[in-house]
Amino acid sequence: MSRLIFLGPPGAGKGTQAVSLSKICQVPHISTGDILRSAVAHKTELGKKAEFYMNAGELVPDDLVLDLIRERLSQTDASGGWVLDGFPRNVPQAVFLDDLLEAIQQPCDFVVNLDVPDEVIIARLLKRGRQDDTEDVIRNRLQVYREQTAPLIDFYRSRQQLVSIDGNQPMEVVTEELKKIISS
Ligand code: ADP
Repeated sequence: MSRLIFLGPPGAGKGTQAVSLSKICQVPHISTGDILRSAVAHKTELGKKAEFYMNAGELVPDDLVLDLIRERLSQTDASGGWVLDGFPRNVPQAVFLDDLLEAIQQPCDFVVNLDVPDEVIIARLLKRGRQDDTEDVIRNRLQVYREQTAPLIDFYRSRQQLVSIDGNQPMEVVTEELKKIISS
């Protein structure tokens, strides 16, 4: 049984590590970025509303994202645990998640913060070349991260739920460190 939250700047390797851990723990990987990109690709109502914000590197408004997460966590495959990737991304989302997890009696086990310096992130994202990976949009996403998401590090640290890992190491080394933490 594992319930993990991944924090970290864009390009920190959250997605890659979250997928590895979800396989190891045999729980679903829940990425709000993936869910939103799929909604955009399928031109759903959610996708049409989210696309503008994603292309600008802004956060999609909370009212859209909170409904999405509430529904996803209530699905049966999520009852035995999950790895959350890309959520929460600001303090209101974290407070919402706290209340939700308490209501469904599923406390989170760990919050993992992947630490990676800015230069490394920008280089990694430019190489990736996703639609929202142009230099201007990347800079905006980093600024949004610093202003809105980075405060969550202290939010979770103050409740002793935070584990920080150096994300500027080979992928396999990061995965090994994570494995040790979840089995400790
Ligand atoms: P990255 O890790 O590169 O930032 P993600 O796939 O996590 O990429 O997110 C891509 C985009 O999707 C974000 O820039 C944002 O517009 C939107 N998004 C994803 N998760 C959230 C969230 N929890 N709240 C608001 N917007 C989100």
